Amino acid sequence: MSETCIFCKIVCGEIPVEKTIETEHAVVFPDINPVTPVHHLVIPKKHIASLDEVTPGDRAVMGDVVYAAREAARLLGVADNGYRLVANTNRDAGQEVYHIHFHLMAGRGFSWPPG
Ligand code: 5GP
Ligand code: ZN
Repeated sequence: MSETCIFCKIVCGEIPVEKTIETEHAVVFPDINPVTPVHHLVIPKKHIASLDEVTPGDRAVMGDVVYAAREAARLLGVADNGYRLVANTNRDAGQEVYHIHFHLMAGRGFSWPPG
């Protein structure tokens, strides 16, 4: 837990959110500023600043985070049509919150490559 991290405050309940789902190691909740019709964030409960900071000891945590994304996509009814899972990592990718999060985005078609 980082005392200055906004997503740690969501994990511990200091900032209330309507959780989409919660697993042993992960929490999913709606993005406050959605950029797609369906836009949720999938985060580990453990404070890890970015994908670049993941260690071998985090493999179970990160596996559960990916599984939580899969479960959330099914719950939200977007799994069959499809969705995109994005983890902006460090400056060039535009990471703004330094607590790992996957954007779970769906509800329309996406272009490739991304901008
Ligand atoms: P990044 O640019 O780091 O990949 O994305 C950060 C995301 O976190 C943004 O999409 C932003 O809207 C979202 N976000 C930032 N603060 C909060 C918050 O307090 N609550 C929620 N639900 N989302 C947040
Ligand atoms: Zn954190």
